Amino acid sequence: QCRVYCPTGAITIHSNVDEVWEAIGDPTVRVVAEIAPAVRVAVGDAFGMKDGVGVMGMIVNAMHRMGFDEVYDVTLSADLTIMEEAQEFLERLSENRNLPLMTSCCPAWVKFCHDQYPEFEKNVSTCRSPQGMMSAVLKEYYRDPENSQGKKTVVVSVMPCTAKKMEIRWKRNYTRGQQDTDIAITSTELINMIRDFGLELGDLDPEACDMPFGLGSGGGVIFGTSGGVTEAVLRRLAPNHSKQLMDNIADCGVREKKWIREFTVSYKDRDLRICVVSGLGNARIVLDRLKAGEVQYDLIEVMACRGGCVMGGGQPVILGRTPRDARTAGLYRIDNNESVRKCDENPLVQNLYKGMLKDKAHELLHVHAAEETR
Ligand code: SF4
Repeated sequence: QCRVYCPTGAITIHSNVDEVWEAIGDPTVRVVAEIAPAVRVAVGDAFGMKDGVGVMGMIVNAMHRMGFDEVYDVTLSADLTIMEEAQEFLERLSENRNLPLMTSCCPAWVKFCHDQYPEFEKNVSTCRSPQGMMSAVLKEYYRDPENSQGKKTVVVSVMPCTAKKMEIRWKRNYTRGQQDTDIAITSTELINMIRDFGLELGDLDPEACDMPFGLGSGGGVIFGTSGGVTEAVLRRLAPNHSKQLMDNIADCGVREKKWIREFTVSYKDRDLRICVVSGLGNARIVLDRLKAGEVQYDLIEVMACRGGCVMGGGQPVILGRTPRDARTAGLYRIDNNESVRKCDENPLVQNLYKGMLKDKAHELLHVHAAEETR
């Protein structure tokens, strides 16, 4: 088993495509897929479409044709991440504990912090990443014999980077001692599967994701770009979802075109000091300043890839041009078209908290056994 993982795609990575085909070919197995937000604005590049065009519906169609039993959307678990992370943020603020809160969605960043800045590990959110949350929820759902219908469930995640292959093996993400995500593949591996199957993505009609895990809010969609997690948290803290308020949040500095964005947002009776950073070299600058007492923040979002997951090392590479801005704009466009833009207004999220997550939110959505992490 290859143990090399590279978030930037600079080294050759073990492919897990054969394992996916094997699972699909096994009649005793139910293969369920979960697709990360950033994948939908990158896969089209490999099929000659305009940079950053959203092709989620076509991907779903292709995956159904290839034999995946169900195809779900990680934007749903991105919504769950925000529900949990916003709650954690408010608790830490009220107790003035372990601030600034640092995000935990990006495994390359989490590992970097663990290895190089262990003094800040307590600051990192205990929330599992959207991949981890989605897989835990899916495995729980299919534990019910009525849902599994006698088949073993194999969860396949489609992710923008290879660091996610590392993350699925962290024992802190396991539920009841079991690995939740069975196989993680990158956008590029998915593209290879689509090609090997003989499909031309542009010829396929869009299809909707499957229910009951096929719908996320616009806030979940923008997780795929740097600043998206923070913007979704600010939406969650906002008192309503008026267009004016959503626009004000978008204009607060969170979308600024800088690797290190610093801004302040008013919340109730205080100002929240926020930093959004992408690129681990830039994260190092921020953490060193924090250590030296030169800066103070309440919330720090870190993504290892510059620009966020849209530029993950598992995304297709376009020689001679950088599709970062086009992919980011593509996610914002999709978000703008969503009727639900706040995680708490997603009816599937509401159903989950009333049902499966009623007594299990902490068990399924947060990390455990941190000492076994990485
Ligand atoms: Fe992976 Fe990069 Fe996204 Fe981190 S920022 S989760 S390394 S694609």
